[in-house]
Amino acid sequence: MTPVSETSAPSAASGRITSWRLLLNNRLAAAGLLLIGLIAVLILLVPVLPLPDPDATAPADRLKPVFSAGHLLGTDQLGRDILSRLLWGTRLSVTVGFTATLIAALLGSAIGIVAGYVGGRTDNAIMRGIDMLMAFPYILLALAIVAALGPGLMNALYAIAIVNIPFFARNVRGVTLGYAHREFVDAARLSGKGHLSVMFTEVLPNVAPVIVITMSTTAGWMILETAGLSFLGLGAQPPQADLGSMLGEGRAQLFTAPHVSIVPGVMIFLIVISLNVLGDGIRDILDPRLRSGALARPGPVTEVAADRSIPARSQSDAVVCIEGLETVFRNGSEISPAVNGVSLHVKRGECLGLIGESGSGKSVTALSVMGLVASPPGVIRNGAIYVGDEDVLSIPQTRLISLRGSRVAYVFQDPLTTLHPMYPVGRQVEEAIAAHQSLGASERREKAIALLEKVGIPDPRERAKHYPHQLSGGQRQRIGIAMALANDPDVIIADEPTTALDVTVQARILELLRDLQRERGMALLFITHDFGVVSEICDRVAVMKDGEIVETGETRAVLANPQHDYTKRLIACVPELGTGVAFLDRVAKIFPRQKTEVS
Ligand code: ADP
Ligand code: MG
Repeated sequence: MTPVSETSAPSAASGRITSWRLLLNNRLAAAGLLLIGLIAVLILLVPVLPLPDPDATAPADRLKPVFSAGHLLGTDQLGRDILSRLLWGTRLSVTVGFTATLIAALLGSAIGIVAGYVGGRTDNAIMRGIDMLMAFPYILLALAIVAALGPGLMNALYAIAIVNIPFFARNVRGVTLGYAHREFVDAARLSGKGHLSVMFTEVLPNVAPVIVITMSTTAGWMILETAGLSFLGLGAQPPQADLGSMLGEGRAQLFTAPHVSIVPGVMIFLIVISLNVLGDGIRDILDPRLRSGALARPGPVTEVAADRSIPARSQSDAVVCIEGLETVFRNGSEISPAVNGVSLHVKRGECLGLIGESGSGKSVTALSVMGLVASPPGVIRNGAIYVGDEDVLSIPQTRLISLRGSRVAYVFQDPLTTLHPMYPVGRQVEEAIAAHQSLGASERREKAIALLEKVGIPDPRERAKHYPHQLSGGQRQRIGIAMALANDPDVIIADEPTTALDVTVQARILELLRDLQRERGMALLFITHDFGVVSEICDRVAVMKDGEIVETGETRAVLANPQHDYTKRLIACVPELGTGVAFLDRVAKIFPRQKTEVS
């Protein structure tokens, strides 16, 4: 388990996950950044570096190899120092490439935003113009533009900027189109904002990531194109050095003095590849979901604070014993508690109901048991979880992972999202078996079919070949239960398994769970928000509110004589037949809009 490095004074220690940290976490992007940074520093320092004049010819020193005295990278066919030409040339090529990128981004994005936002005929007219530009092979178009303007570096820059405008325009228009009719844009218009201001303040911030991404991925490309034009003699004019012209001039000596062309070639390669990996890294960061860590790959096991308190086990005969569990979500330095000091236990053959309104921390409690809360952002700050005799938060990750599904199994709320849509259900049950048992293929299949039969799937041999979408909601949940049963777990944690089902199917699934639990003597931790369900299958019940357990007891006792106000209110929420609108009034009265504190 990954220990948490910070202590219980959490807030100050770790900063918010900054873009920098995210970028540096991506090794490729960091390498690209480092390389590009080095090159940038070098070309910024060129004027003050003790370099010979890049254009000074010295016929006596022609084609010196690399590492010659006074010429670290040798000399070219006119005896000019290659290192000096390389640095000055890189400076020029990078400047031209970036300027062209900026121009193309500015014009292209403006065109794209206007076309996407205004739509209709304007969009049509603009986009057909852009299509016409795109219809030409762009290097040919650049050549035509340079031919019209005359060769020279500035003209090459204009040509490359112009041929790249369509890429920006198309990309940005596509994204703008998606935003132009979104509610927040409509709302801004209704609030009286002018079109220009809506485009700037509502649309632009949303498409900005796309612009930056397109820029970062095309910058390398544009440097390459500039080099291409110079290589053909249409860009930088002699004696001015840029990477393309150096490559072009070195071409004649490719066999006698390969270093003359290899050196600028390697430089072009390094610049383009580092810009591209950096561009990919930037793209990943600019996605806000990635930023918040939502798409970051969570670790295999929830992070556990190294300095957590480990309470002793209070119930020696319980299968699962949660002691003083405190699970929080950490977003940078912000810590939001979800579960606070929860202690629960479930014995063999017992069903414990965990009840509470949505957001009270039931799922987080359940997921904490097997370290399934995603980290980041989840952290178990305190507490212990005993499965059998051992505290699973203290055992090695691999052992904890091996307990999932074998000793503790889960059934989740919506089977449609937990079943794989592309595999037949029988195969998915087999997969659950294969995860913990080494059986032959046919044996495994037979076992899966037996499980399907056990959970009441009619004609299981045929049904096993069906895909999740071919089954009804109740049948899908039965498959989920079959998968949970596959390895004879000691305890099943069912997290609102019937909430997505209609009442009659719900009753049958409950019946199935209760029968299976009694027959196999398993423990069942049943999570729900419905006291009606609890009263049907649970022996004991724990009531949860705002991440804490407020009341526990025998179901019958709690129902007959609820101690806590919140419990009373939850019980009052079970509808009775025939009360109609009066029921809604009652619920509205006991749960007024404003959050009331429980006495
Ligand atoms: P429920 O009782 O409905 O199952 P949960 O256990 O899912 O509630 O959620 C408990 C609390 O934890 C909620 O306040 C929720 O906002 C918070 N929470 C759940 N998942 C995350 C997450 N990934 N990041 C931040 N907060 C979360
Ligand atoms: Mg939940």
